Amino acid sequence: MPNNAQSSYRGRLAPTPTGLLHRGHARAFGVAWARARNAGGSLLYRLEDLDRDRCKAEFVEQTVRDMQWLGLNWDETTSPQSARLHSFQSVWRQLAEVGAIYPSPHSRKDVQAALSAPHEGEGEVIFPPNLRPAPDTKHPTDVPGELNWRFRVAEGEPIEFVDGHFGPQRFVAGKDFGDFLVWRRDGLPSYELAVVADDHATGITEVVRGADLLLSTARQLLLYRALGWDAPDWFHVPLVRDASGQRLAKRHASESLDTLRKNGAEAGALLAAELASVGLSHPCDLS
Ligand code: GLU
Repeated sequence: MPNNAQSSYRGRLAPTPTGLLHRGHARAFGVAWARARNAGGSLLYRLEDLDRDRCKAEFVEQTVRDMQWLGLNWDETTSPQSARLHSFQSVWRQLAEVGAIYPSPHSRKDVQAALSAPHEGEGEVIFPPNLRPAPDTKHPTDVPGELNWRFRVAEGEPIEFVDGHFGPQRFVAGKDFGDFLVWRRDGLPSYELAVVADDHATGITEVVRGADLLLSTARQLLLYRALGWDAPDWFHVPLVRDASGQRLAKRHASESLDTLRKNGAEAGALLAAELASVGLSHPCDLS
């Protein structure tokens, strides 16, 4: 623990280096930083670089530069996720041992083909329950092998939590999301498994991130429960949208922090505006 930690609050900044940061990131990471600082707690920096094809060294460096330009700082840095596959594999094993997950030979194409139209929600593809193995099937628990592994959800189970920003949330397993991936056939953990493993291992007390991950929180709560771990608190941040209502994404190059900086934007004012949009004030005196 760093010496300056005065409270038990532990937050994290968890960027994925697949592109340039934009105002949406400034908001989410800024809020994570402000909440940790306002709580007198500590903040950890973790690089989520499991997507080998899309993560690039230049974005790793640019992300740090952008964060520092915004005035964000952190107290600890963990090794990147790509360096910790062993710890993710031991979480996979724990899930396999309690029978919460199963190997699935089905490709994305099989899943798409097995779907009937009503299952296709807003971008959420529900894994068809008829492609599951029977519940009493014995599966290996030593190594995942070259298979996808999925978490078996209980259809109709409501998953509820109170979000620090959005208030009470409710999702229904089997309807809002289905059996989700925890391990990929290429030998990597899924985002859901890796984040839960890391947040638990590093004692994170509050997860702050974009509202697009609210549904992921429901999945992650099921992982925490299956693993017998206490879940952190959650604080999801409204997404930043462009003039046409689309959420900012990498295609909005003109909104990247890099471009805004080059065009003379003032970091303190930009961050203060993003924090204000969530009802927070800037923790530092900007005058
Ligand atoms: N790495 C994710 C991102 O950059 C954040 C994941 C999380 O906070 O759980 O959007």
